[in-house]
Amino acid sequence: MVIKEIQVKNILTKSNLPIAGYSINPYIGCSHACKYCYAAFMKRFTKHDEPWGSFVDVKYWEPIKNPQKYAGKTMIIGSVTDGYLPQEAIYKRTRAFLQEMQGSNINLIITTKSDLVVRDLDLIKTYPNPLIAWSIDSLDENFKKEMDHAPSIQRRIEALKTCHKAGIRTSCFISPIFPGITDVEGIIDKIAPYCQYIWLENLNLRGGFKKDILDYIKNNYPKLEELYQEIYNKNNLTYWEKLSQEIEEYTKQKGYSYVIDKEPFLDKIYALPIIINYFYHTQIKQSAKKV
Ligand code: SF4
Repeated sequence: MVIKEIQVKNILTKSNLPIAGYSINPYIGCSHACKYCYAAFMKRFTKHDEPWGSFVDVKYWEPIKNPQKYAGKTMIIGSVTDGYLPQEAIYKRTRAFLQEMQGSNINLIITTKSDLVVRDLDLIKTYPNPLIAWSIDSLDENFKKEMDHAPSIQRRIEALKTCHKAGIRTSCFISPIFPGITDVEGIIDKIAPYCQYIWLENLNLRGGFKKDILDYIKNNYPKLEELYQEIYNKNNLTYWEKLSQEIEEYTKQKGYSYVIDKEPFLDKIYALPIIINYFYHTQIKQSAKKV
């Protein structure tokens, strides 16, 4: 792993994400090195020749002027990296950001694949109604090890439970859902008692990693090869439509709320947890056409 410490002007980046006004990425690059990384395109904005996943730049930024002026704005930590990479245990740059913005009354969202976030609960608790979200793509630790270098699924679920018990809003992205591999209902069963929101996102092979994933499936799950060809080379959505119906029926049986492709938080009172299906998210539909 190539690690460099760098100086940047600003740690706040205006965000196009529907849920956040600003994104905070205390690192450039991501040592979790997910095979399907949606953020790998960021490499072209770096000076690195190394493959994505094998370098991390540690950011030091100029002090944030008047943090209070961001009161009420939503800031998300970890849009194109993870604020809780193993390097965070040493450099503590995410912790430095949380200290700097303490008392600013921003809406804090943290997305991660790590349990290191538990270290910062003392600070996170001081923010108004913070939300921490973990990504889980499988309950099979061997499959997980093939897909990423992040902490185990078990450790993520334990962290989720710890934060939930500490009174923090917690959520889970069941993402990406690998057709024929991800046991969505099994994951929901494990995490639902500890989550307020559960997002479902299908595997979207729009990056340079499409060939790697299809080769991986061919070599390791040959029985699924035809299904992946149908979905990712013929744009056949039948699998997702069927899975969507199955999950909807399952969540109704459980008494959970289920919504498709919208932000459910503002207009209605839902039974918790809320399962949010992004299979038909506009962006996913558009990019699926281009695959
Ligand atoms: S954790 Fe996110 S940013 Fe990091 S490699 Fe995985 S998908 Fe990419």
